[in-house]
Amino acid sequence: MTPAPDCLILGGGLAGSMAGLLLARAGRRALLLEKESSPHHKVCGEFLSPEAVGYLRLAGIDPLALGAVPIHRLRLSVAHRTVESPLPFTALSLSRCTLDEALLARAAEEGCTIRRGAAAEHLERSAGNWTARIAGGATFTAPTVFLATGKHDLRGWRRSPGAQSDLVGFKLHWRLAPANTADLRDAMELFLFPGGYGGLALVENEVANLCLVVRKATLRQAGNWPALLDSLLAQNRRIRHLLQGAAPLWERPLAVSSIPYGHLGSPHRNASLWSLGDQVAVIPSFTGDGMSIALHSAALAASGFLAGSSPADYEHTLVGQLRRSMKLAVGLSVAAVQPFARYLAPPAFSAFPLAIRWIASATRIPAAALPSTP
Ligand SMILES: Cc1cc2nc3c(=O)[nH]c(=O)nc-3n(C[C@H](O)[C@H](O)[C@H](O)COP(=O)(O)OP(=O)(O)OC[C@H]3O[C@@H](n4cnc5c(N)ncnc54)[C@H](O)[C@@H]3O)c2cc1C
Repeated sequence: MTPAPDCLILGGGLAGSMAGLLLARAGRRALLLEKESSPHHKVCGEFLSPEAVGYLRLAGIDPLALGAVPIHRLRLSVAHRTVESPLPFTALSLSRCTLDEALLARAAEEGCTIRRGAAAEHLERSAGNWTARIAGGATFTAPTVFLATGKHDLRGWRRSPGAQSDLVGFKLHWRLAPANTADLRDAMELFLFPGGYGGLALVENEVANLCLVVRKATLRQAGNWPALLDSLLAQNRRIRHLLQGAAPLWERPLAVSSIPYGHLGSPHRNASLWSLGDQVAVIPSFTGDGMSIALHSAALAASGFLAGSSPADYEHTLVGQLRRSMKLAVGLSVAAVQPFARYLAPPAFSAFPLAIRWIASATRIPAAALPSTP
């Protein structure tokens, strides 16, 4: 008979896989339940900050070996203006479909038991044990649960709405015209348009990832994705240029709605639950820091658990580390979707070119919170 697990991990995205990997590496019997039965795409800008890359290397993953593209420059375009700044660090860009699968495989290699196609539907605690029931009715019990279902809340375990929750996210992969692929190489193109903002960058295999968020009211006004894309292209010369002659690789984009930007900490939840990744902190996507927070939260929670500390202590530490960058990021995200952003942003960044570099640094996990190796 298989011994019962020490820990259940719900969700096999970056946070869940990283936690499973570290717990298994430390000799714990970790069982991870992942809803999807095969590799899948996710709404994400796919921009990997150096902190995320550091954590991936700790996990035994070299993103460059998976085809990740180095990013050295940031371009910001609004209407017909574009400003450019070197990044204060080298970032990478890699599709989530490739990355998440690689980390899940590493977790399995370290001894974490993975069950695919296992969507947790119900979670409850009684007599010191957690029981998760998956679709189909099977149940799994363990004394400890790590909740890592990312963008999807488990019924009965909703997150706070955050400070900015009226945005819808879209993502679509494209094959650009060869000259535009060359033009995009080594840059992250951030763009603003009325009611939203987004990013365009190459990932592996010369594919370009377009990812954006838009206010629900703007989307309602546009009516549907093709009309929204048309209006974005009409409003932003640089993105119009880059997508000229491009072919979408999927019939329609992936979408996610009501993203709770600014959600940080979950004191309303049962104090014995370890919340990871987007379940504990959702930073606005322009920062490109959500994945590093997912990996960092998993590492912090796993080491706290192994050292015998409590989920409440872990969350207290994490919230303290992220509060400042979260506040700044949410403030900028709220401003970016206001009508005045398109008039103010280009002159502001032209006058203060160092502002882009400062924002890129100030919205990251503070260096003092990171392990010394990344
Ligand atoms: C528009 C947008 C752009 C972004 N761009 C970037 C970026 O460029 N760079 C960056 O670093 N971050 C970015 N992010 C943030 C980043 O995508 C998230 O922070 C990150 O994916 C969080 O990882 P996670 O493991 O917590 O959740 P997820 O990656 O969402 O993984 C959760 C996993 O749980 C599984 N799951 C869900 N429900 C269940 C269930 N009931 N039972 C079992 N399994 C379940 C899912 O299938 C999934 O595999 C962006 C986010 C958005 C919305």
